[in-house]
Amino acid sequence: MVHVAIPVAGRKRPLAKRKSRVSQLSMKKTVRMITGATALLLSTSALAAPSDVMALQDKALQDDVAYDIVEGLTTEIGPRQAGTEAEARARDWAVAKLKTLGFSNIRNEPYMMPTWIRGKEMASVVSPFPQKLAVTALGNSASTGDKGLTAEVVYFPTLADLMAAADGSLKGKIAFVSHAMQATQDGSSYGAFGPARFVGPNIAAKKGAAAIVIRSAGTDHHRNPHTGNTNFEKGVTPIPAGALSIPDAENLERMVKRGKPVQLKLVLTPQNIGQQESGNVIAELPGSDPSLGMIVIACHLDSWDLGTGAIDDASGCGIITAAAKHVMAAGQPKRTIRLLWAGAEEVGLWGGNAYGEARKGDKHALAMESDFGADRVWRVDFSLPETAKPLADQIAGALQPLGIGRGQQPASGGADVQAIIRNNNLAVIDLQQDGTRYFDLHHTPDDTLDKIDPEQLRQNVAAWATVLSIVGNSDADLTMPAKE
Ligand SMILES: [Zn+2]
Repeated sequence: MVHVAIPVAGRKRPLAKRKSRVSQLSMKKTVRMITGATALLLSTSALAAPSDVMALQDKALQDDVAYDIVEGLTTEIGPRQAGTEAEARARDWAVAKLKTLGFSNIRNEPYMMPTWIRGKEMASVVSPFPQKLAVTALGNSASTGDKGLTAEVVYFPTLADLMAAADGSLKGKIAFVSHAMQATQDGSSYGAFGPARFVGPNIAAKKGAAAIVIRSAGTDHHRNPHTGNTNFEKGVTPIPAGALSIPDAENLERMVKRGKPVQLKLVLTPQNIGQQESGNVIAELPGSDPSLGMIVIACHLDSWDLGTGAIDDASGCGIITAAAKHVMAAGQPKRTIRLLWAGAEEVGLWGGNAYGEARKGDKHALAMESDFGADRVWRVDFSLPETAKPLADQIAGALQPLGIGRGQQPASGGADVQAIIRNNNLAVIDLQQDGTRYFDLHHTPDDTLDKIDPEQLRQNVAAWATVLSIVGNSDADLTMPAKE
């Protein structure tokens, strides 16, 4: 795929945009011919898709609805942390937006959740090399109190090193855990190195640490610390837990490696404000045959409070909604397509779990989610019953012109649909996005609109519209075999 290298700000884009759109379409024609020919030859893995699906795909490549949603959410709402008034304003904004787009059965489904909010944040090396470090508190961090706490730093190059530390050995110290997370296309590095954030504070607390700072779970080299939730086990008293920006973590690493004791002052004053209201926004494109079971497509509406949640996850809400809008424009599908703009994903999947419980009685057939930014889709994965193999072949064939290959891994769905997939044993399709630069921005102040590449966002909409159109008009049996 000829694609203009991605400069951050889109100003240069009109010419590039027109050129790349033209190149996308002409490339598509070529690939479509090749696909058709190959499919004919192979007539195994990829069936050529009906022309109306390809026409819909072409229209979706010109989409502006997705970008409009990202622009609106990041501009008119901005940071929208779970359980806060900003998230409530975002739900009202979403309901109004979905109404203007012509969706049906739009509703806000509230639930209560324990809410944590940020306070003051400051870190500075007291000795031997006094200087400030860029820091942010992790979700569920305890408070140091306004005066803060000053203690000696104990350095662990990896989480495994921290785990190996003797119990009680960190009494009154500040643990400092690093890691070597790298950028990967599939984002798998986050799963491998993220535990420093997910469970590092809990482990440090159990070893007596007064506080902990970690190298941010990110891949950029800006002085933007990456926030994100951490979890303390029942019975473990939470400790102050912060993430340093990567340049500051590397600076602190150099300091400790000089062999002199390093004293760090940390001021983090977050609060737990108890049970607050959050909620899911749900809307539908009703299908003509409810007996077939609906397709639920999800994103999450909440964001962390440091940035405006453009890639995480306004783009996901834009992508799924624009794709459903294109299917709506093409005529009523057979299956109902239900949009789930889930609340409170970042702090514990409260929205997804509430949906999975409240809505398990509804007849679902398939679940999908977009929650990995706005860069191009490069692979499609399936978790479908044998009976639906022809359907998978058709989808795989229809996606090839967009430069999307077929994966061999089973699909698993995103965080907000885990509960409904589990409760209803649903079929799943994953459209895997390129996450190479996702963790440069993830949970940082830099998660802003200018980071969105409209062309790649359109490619996402085209991929999603293709899948929804094919599955939405299919009466294939999507019943998954019963779990053992
Ligand atoms: Zn997210």
